[in-house]
Amino acid sequence: MTQDYQATREFAKKADQKDPLHAYRNRFYFPKNDKGQEKVYLCGNSLGLQPKNLSEYVNKELEEWKKWGVDGHLEAENPWLYYHHFLRQAAARIVGAKPIEVVIMNNLTVNLHLMMISFYRPTKQRFKILIEASAFPSDQYAVESQARLHGYEPDEAILEIKPRKGESYIRNEDIIDLIKKEGEHIALVMLGGINYYTGQVFDMKSIAKAAHEVGANVGYDLAHAAGNIELSLHEWNVDFAVWCTYKYLNSGPGGTSGVFVHEKHANNKEIPRLAGWWGHDEAARFEMKKGFIPMPGADGWQLSNAQILPMAAHRASLAIFDEVGMSEIRKKSVELTGYLAFLIAKLNEEFGEVLTYITPQNPEQRGAQLSLVAKKDGRKLYDALTAQDVVADWREPDVIRIAPAPLYNSYSDCFRFYEIAKTLFKN
Ligand SMILES: *Cc1c(COP(=O)(O)O)cnc(C)c1O
Repeated sequence: MTQDYQATREFAKKADQKDPLHAYRNRFYFPKNDKGQEKVYLCGNSLGLQPKNLSEYVNKELEEWKKWGVDGHLEAENPWLYYHHFLRQAAARIVGAKPIEVVIMNNLTVNLHLMMISFYRPTKQRFKILIEASAFPSDQYAVESQARLHGYEPDEAILEIKPRKGESYIRNEDIIDLIKKEGEHIALVMLGGINYYTGQVFDMKSIAKAAHEVGANVGYDLAHAAGNIELSLHEWNVDFAVWCTYKYLNSGPGGTSGVFVHEKHANNKEIPRLAGWWGHDEAARFEMKKGFIPMPGADGWQLSNAQILPMAAHRASLAIFDEVGMSEIRKKSVELTGYLAFLIAKLNEEFGEVLTYITPQNPEQRGAQLSLVAKKDGRKLYDALTAQDVVADWREPDVIRIAPAPLYNSYSDCFRFYEIAKTLFKN
């Protein structure tokens, strides 16, 4: 389809009719304007829309609680004691993992810390963490505080990789070269699978390989990657990964998070970790005895008993992902974001280079998101788009992020964005 995109409403409509996922749009609630019209929602990279089946899943657990009180832990149809097990298979499919490698728990930054406690084990010689420059602030703070926890100043322990001068995203070869060059000092390579700001997809496979070759661990923050692109964490031999479930995975504000720990670490009881009773051997958990025995696999990193309500919400969303599958979702996403990129090129043709994006052009190096930079008055443009019912977001100093989510956005949404932008550039 890529070749014959057209900047017309008819084309967008036809593309929607041909889109095998178009019906999924109706499975989500769209925010509306004062007149009751659906907004152009392009912010699924920040907070995914609510799936219509979600309240059913959450209400089910509220009813179980009403009915059973504490006995719901064993008597509920989905016993709360084992609730995290019910999300495992579907979550593993999202990130390309074996079931034993995945657990749903806590929130993202908390999980990042738990993983770094285990996989950032600095020694005198090898103490550096490689991260992308301008990583998401929470990740920066997490990494800084981990360095301090081990007695290092962030400046000495944190190694940042950034784009070359005049370029907007990072070349994979530069990442690999830096890993090789600093290899003997690097304890951990920790990157976003997709950079939240530029939308760049990192080559997680080759980076993991390079990191291991120099003897470092490798972990990824998949906040912007989970539910967006296809992942093969097991095959890529990644040591750990973490992700949130409220962005592309549509599980609601503040939703729960996922953790991946590679199978090769599943039975290693020597890995230092922060422990809690939910990570303890399930068969002996209620013996209430001294002496922590970790569950094999990712389960052994759990601390607290499962958060049933956010996890019920996540189950609802995972059910939809399971129906469609990541490969279908990604297939549409490449076409849909490709269409948006085409429309932006059109705007530039019509109005003279008004809008660039710092996201890679190559579809393999990006997910759903395009990070736009206006030639001038970016903030004004963003405010005007917002006033015209486009839901996007603004990231200092000059980026407007838009992301058509393939599960619920349409070609017509992209076209509406284009039409609105056109009226703004005309004025
Ligand atoms: C969204 C996002 C976060 C948010 O962290 P929470 O712990 O869920 O608040 C952290 N890191 C990255 C890279 C993100 O994109």
